[in-house]
Amino acid sequence: MSEGIIVIKKGREKPIIQQHPWIFSGAIDSVRGDPTPGDIVTVTNHEGAFLARGYWNPRSQIQVRILTWQDEPITDDWWRSRLHRAIKGRDRYVHLYSQETACRMVNAENDWLPGLIVDRYGDWLVLQALTLGIDQRKTLLAGLLMEIIAPNGVYERSDVDVRGKEGLKAAVGELAGQPPPERITITENDFSFQVDVRHGHKTGYYLDQRANRAILKDVCLERAASDTQNEQVRALNLFSYTGGFGLYALGGGAEYVVNVDASREALELAETNFVLNRFASDHAEFIQADVFDYLHDQVAEGALYDVIVCDPPKFAHNAGQVERAARGYKDLNLNCFKLVKPGGYLMTFSCSGAIDADLFQKIVFGALADSGRQAQIVKHLTQAEDHPVALTFPEGAYLKGLLLRVY
Ligand code: SAH
Repeated sequence: MSEGIIVIKKGREKPIIQQHPWIFSGAIDSVRGDPTPGDIVTVTNHEGAFLARGYWNPRSQIQVRILTWQDEPITDDWWRSRLHRAIKGRDRYVHLYSQETACRMVNAENDWLPGLIVDRYGDWLVLQALTLGIDQRKTLLAGLLMEIIAPNGVYERSDVDVRGKEGLKAAVGELAGQPPPERITITENDFSFQVDVRHGHKTGYYLDQRANRAILKDVCLERAASDTQNEQVRALNLFSYTGGFGLYALGGGAEYVVNVDASREALELAETNFVLNRFASDHAEFIQADVFDYLHDQVAEGALYDVIVCDPPKFAHNAGQVERAARGYKDLNLNCFKLVKPGGYLMTFSCSGAIDADLFQKIVFGALADSGRQAQIVKHLTQAEDHPVALTFPEGAYLKGLLLRVY
């Protein structure tokens, strides 16, 4: 076995030099040596000059994920120092929100650790290995995380579809330390949430929406304070999952929130979370329904809300799905516009990486035009700051949203 060398086609080295971390099969001229899938390989230009080093998977369209642009060996110490840097980068976050007990610690390509997600929930870490290169090293990485962060344990939630593109099956279970309890209680902006890291979505919870949930609370506070007709603020939380936005709405003085989700388990946990935060049950409703159908019925009934949050799952998984996804977003937003009281707010999101912020804004504009309403952009919204985006990796900015005032 000899070290693998990946030779890049002449004229295709520019993105690599500009530190984009992905090398697609079409940019590769030849593979020299005898690498095994998952191995560390050296990337050179057509003249043999060093460009980068990364891990290799010939089964994936992204054949190399770059780990470093320096000619340095990828040792256990290398992984330790990369993890350390990502974790240190969260110090600012920990300092800003000292009471918080949940945080993304490693954000894959954006922390120059492609394919690796690590989220902290209280005393446990949840690891997601999205690629073969990370999957092969997950025991080493879990051990290093035990050493650096000293959690009670590291649990794996590598049950995501993208692993299929790497030739990997789902993998779930303990990687290091003690197994996590059925539910972990976290604190976020003074609210408590129970997180099911074993069965919940992603690694258990949508940490990326933390800052936007806090913005929603402020919106509700303003709306409650400015309500001259002394009417109570009613909020609609679409795609509620475990109730995050809904809880913040009540925390911001909303009188009533309707949470809608297709998942019974998510709604059960949402109800538990409302009780945990001492909100009386007559202030919230938990409706299991398809949001598209529910909105249709609400419009027919002439329902109105002061504040609506619309946070659907990813509709476009690739460029080929953008058109269909756009129709879905437009339909949702059109009905949302119809349901907002004049002067009320719509907070609307897309987490589809294939739909950028400009396109999303155009889609929402299209929905507005059909609704006959008027709206202002009050804020552009994005993912929370523990989900930073590497400047050389625009794909990292997947969550976009608009806070709109609607008349
Ligand atoms: N806003 C949430 C996260 C939403 S994730 C938070 O801050 O935690 C998207 C949710 O949409 C999931 O809970 C999923 O169960 C739900 N979902 C997906 N498709 C749906 C549909 N057509 N109707 C209702 N809910 C749906």
